[in-house]
Amino acid sequence: MSKNCFIPQCREGYKSHIKKNKLNGVKQKTLFKAPKDTFLLEKWAESIPRSDRKLRPGIDNVCEKHFDESQIERYFETKMPDGSVHLIERERILLKKNAIPSIFPDLPQYMTTKKQIRKTTAERNVYYFNNNILNTIDTISETYNNLKDTLKNMALPNEWFFSCAHSSLVLGYLDCNYEVVKKIIISSSDLNLKIFIKTKLINIAETHVTCIEDLNKILKTVDDFKMCTGTGIDNCPKSKQCNEYVENELSLNQVQRCVECAKERKYNMDIQRVHKQKRNKKTTTKPVIKNVL
Ligand SMILES: [Zn+2]
Ligand SMILES: [Zn+2]
Repeated sequence: MSKNCFIPQCREGYKSHIKKNKLNGVKQKTLFKAPKDTFLLEKWAESIPRSDRKLRPGIDNVCEKHFDESQIERYFETKMPDGSVHLIERERILLKKNAIPSIFPDLPQYMTTKKQIRKTTAERNVYYFNNNILNTIDTISETYNNLKDTLKNMALPNEWFFSCAHSSLVLGYLDCNYEVVKKIIISSSDLNLKIFIKTKLINIAETHVTCIEDLNKILKTVDDFKMCTGTGIDNCPKSKQCNEYVENELSLNQVQRCVECAKERKYNMDIQRVHKQKRNKKTTTKPVIKNVL
């Protein structure tokens, strides 16, 4: 039974390569068995550029390098009571259902062009169409991988961390209670960007990143967000509509409070003032009433 990668030119799983990795402290790549499902097996065989041997289900292996990051599950996910997600790296990574190997970086040109010979016009159109989509996907996954590599080695602002989960890039900001209060998430499928302050999704102008400069700008903006400290009123610490962060520039000495919490505070203060006035009126009018009686 072969324990090495089925893809031509790939050295993963070979004894000499494992030895070399160990020497260099490089983590071994995970090998996945070819699927037993006939339909999926056929998809794998179609995708893999190898004609000298047939891919055998449950016997031949393909290593993780040939799968797009979006097809791999690397983490266990636990949802915490506060809505945040806790991630633990899996000892053995898994392939997503229906994953198909698609990345063959080390192949010589002649091995990847064999399928282009003699196609009908219709077939050719389908081929070019698919190729176009593949090119777009390639560009996205290339950008995604570039961003990932850059982020791995980049110095982030204080208390920020970078993680990679659910085929997304995650930048998080940890507050002094070890709570992740700011999150920037970039999806690997389309490079679209989402920002969360606590559990609230924030609307921002830029929703797409194509380079690290884009991301740096957004990171700076989000890092500068001041968290809302609530209404400052004892029995109503936070407005239900609290935006979680302060949208406008603060003037000096101003308390950090979002628009909603500021509104709620003003409303509460007004009620208290009215109550006080009523109470004051009662005490002053009482003697007058007594006199009348
Ligand atoms: Zn391989
Ligand atoms: Zn607020």
